[in-house]
Amino acid sequence: MGRSSPSWNLICLKFELNNFLAGPPVPATLVTLDLRPIQISTNVPIFAPILDRIPMCPDNASSAKPLELVTQFQTDAVPFVAKAEVPSRFGKFTVYGFLEKATGKEHMAIVAGEIDARKRIPVRIHSECWTGDVLGSLKCDCRDQLEMALHHIAEHGGIVLYLRQEGRGIGLLNKLKAYALQERGMDTVEANQALGFADDLRSYTSAIEMLRFFGIRKVRLLTNNPKKIAALEDAGIEVHREAHQQASNPHNLRYLKTKAKKSGHLLNFREEEL
Ligand SMILES: [Zn+2]
Repeated sequence: MGRSSPSWNLICLKFELNNFLAGPPVPATLVTLDLRPIQISTNVPIFAPILDRIPMCPDNASSAKPLELVTQFQTDAVPFVAKAEVPSRFGKFTVYGFLEKATGKEHMAIVAGEIDARKRIPVRIHSECWTGDVLGSLKCDCRDQLEMALHHIAEHGGIVLYLRQEGRGIGLLNKLKAYALQERGMDTVEANQALGFADDLRSYTSAIEMLRFFGIRKVRLLTNNPKKIAALEDAGIEVHREAHQQASNPHNLRYLKTKAKKSGHLLNFREEEL
């Protein structure tokens, strides 16, 4: 084992973490992390059991290339289950499926291009909206936002995390009940509260676990929602926000204004909309 100094070693490692962890084999994901140099005495738990199984650079450690770690960070709470290529009208994607064990929800990571975790990755966190995503409902801006994000990652690379938390977490049937109340004059927040729900029940814990799976620590987050930014930052992910707003329509203008006024969304309205 070569040493570049008494206390540091540059170790060249290229391996699949699945080889070292229990559980069924999972197709490899290539993720590159900038982890150089690694102190050989590090107590980082994930490395400890495997260090003795990693080939070391013999004589030229000081001139070693940046470490490349081929890995997947699996968690028990939201394990990766399967992936497949999905050509789409937006471009070619690889869809990674995850299972949120506590709820049975099946979340998807829609990936375009190669994920190099040393770089800042464009990310959109999208919560399922059946009426918008499937029907093209004009009552919200969800489908516009989803399509804008898919176009964006198809062009620039990145990830759209598609989270199965319909209706800001209250479910589709309750969302229809809330819509019925909105037809009687309530806004989106008042309707949720009238049904006994908080304004927003969404959680981004699974999204964070999915980002960790890819080793992502820096994101360019396509969002208008400060709660998403805070959730990721609280988890130690470095966030640069990119505004993600579309033109409104007569059906969703009140909804968008309510999101801005009551939920703090970072939206700008044209003068004629105010
Ligand atoms: Zn929607």
